[in-house]
Amino acid sequence: RAKEEGRNGFCFYTRDLNTDAKAKLELEAALSHALERDEFVLHYQPQVDARTGRMAGVEALLRWNRRGAGMVSPGQFIPLAERSGLIVAIGNWVIEAACRQIRTWLDAGVKPPRVAVNVSARQFAEGDLDVVLRGAMRRHRVPAALIEVELTESMLVHDPDKTEILLSRLKALGIRLSLDDFGTGYSSLGYLQRFPIDTLKIDQSFIRRIGTQPDGGALADAVIALAHRLNLRVIAEGVETPQQHQHLLDQGCDEIQGYLFGKPMPAPDLLERLAGGACSISGNVGTDD
Ligand code: C2E
Ligand code: MG
Ligand code: MG
Ligand code: MG
Repeated sequence: RAKEEGRNGFCFYTRDLNTDAKAKLELEAALSHALERDEFVLHYQPQVDARTGRMAGVEALLRWNRRGAGMVSPGQFIPLAERSGLIVAIGNWVIEAACRQIRTWLDAGVKPPRVAVNVSARQFAEGDLDVVLRGAMRRHRVPAALIEVELTESMLVHDPDKTEILLSRLKALGIRLSLDDFGTGYSSLGYLQRFPIDTLKIDQSFIRRIGTQPDGGALADAVIALAHRLNLRVIAEGVETPQQHQHLLDQGCDEIQGYLFGKPMPAPDLLERLAGGACSISGNVGTDD
C-alpha cells in the first residue's frame, strides 16, 4: 500500500513539475519578445504629502500586457527577467518610458509629479545606470529634479566601492535616491551615512502591523525617527487605512503611498488626478488590482 501511494505521489509530482517547467519556459520565451512587441506599460501610483494630501510624486510600476494572457504582475516576471539578464533592457525601457511621459506632461502644460523608477540588482550592477539616465533625460529634456531612483539595501552592499562611485555620479546628475523596502534587507546602518541617500521607504510589512498588535507601529516609528535624525525624507508604502495614515502623520512621516490614496493607474487616469488638483482620500481611484 505504501508503495502504491509512493508511486501515485511520484507520478503526480513529476507531472506537476513538467507543467510548471513548461509554463515557465513559455513565460520566459514570451518575456523575451515583450519589448519588441511593445507589451510593457508603466502605471503610476501617487505619493502624497502626509499633511496636505497633495501629490508630491508618483512611483512608476511596470506592467506586462502579455499577448493573449492579459496583465502579468511584476512579482511574476521581474525575478525571471533578472535571472535571464533581460532586466537590463527592460529597466532601460522603464527609464526611457518614464522620461517620455514626463515630457508629454510638460508639453501639455501639466506640472509633472516627481517620478520614481525601480532599479533591479542586475541593472544596478551591469547597466551603466548613469549613462542611461543621462541619455534619457537629455533626449526628453527632463529636469533631473523630477527623477528619483529606487534602490534596495542588498544592491548597495555587494560592492560598496563601486556603489559609492555610481551613486555619486547619479547625485551629480541631480537625481534623488531612495531606499525601497527599507528595513527588510540584510545590511548595516553604516551605509546610510556612507552613501548619498535622500529618502527611506518604510516597507509595507511594517505599515501593516500598525494598530494590529500592541506597539505594532514601533518599527515604522523607529524608521521615521532614524530618517529624520539623518536628515532624510521618509515615505510609508502600502498605506491602506485612515488609522495607519493618522499614526504616520502623528509620527511626522513626510509622504504616504498606498491604496488609501490611489492604486497604481495608467497615465490617462493619473492625468485626471493631476488636473483635479489636490487629492482627497479615495481608495477607489485607480484601476489596478
Ligand atoms: P515595490 O517597488 O516595493 O512597489 C510597491 C508594490 O506595492 C507595488 O506592487 C504596488 O502596487 C504595491 N502597493 C502599493 N500600495 C499598496 C497597498 O496599499 N497595499 C498593497 N497590498 N500593495 C500596495 P507591484 O506593482 O506589483 O510591484 C511589485 C514589485 O515589483 C515592486 O515592489 C518592485 O520591486 C518590482 N517592480 C515593479 N516595477 C518595476 C520596474 O519597473 N523595475 C524593477 N526592477 N522592478 C519593478
Ligand atoms: Mg519601489
Ligand atoms: Mg517597496
Ligand atoms: Mg517590494
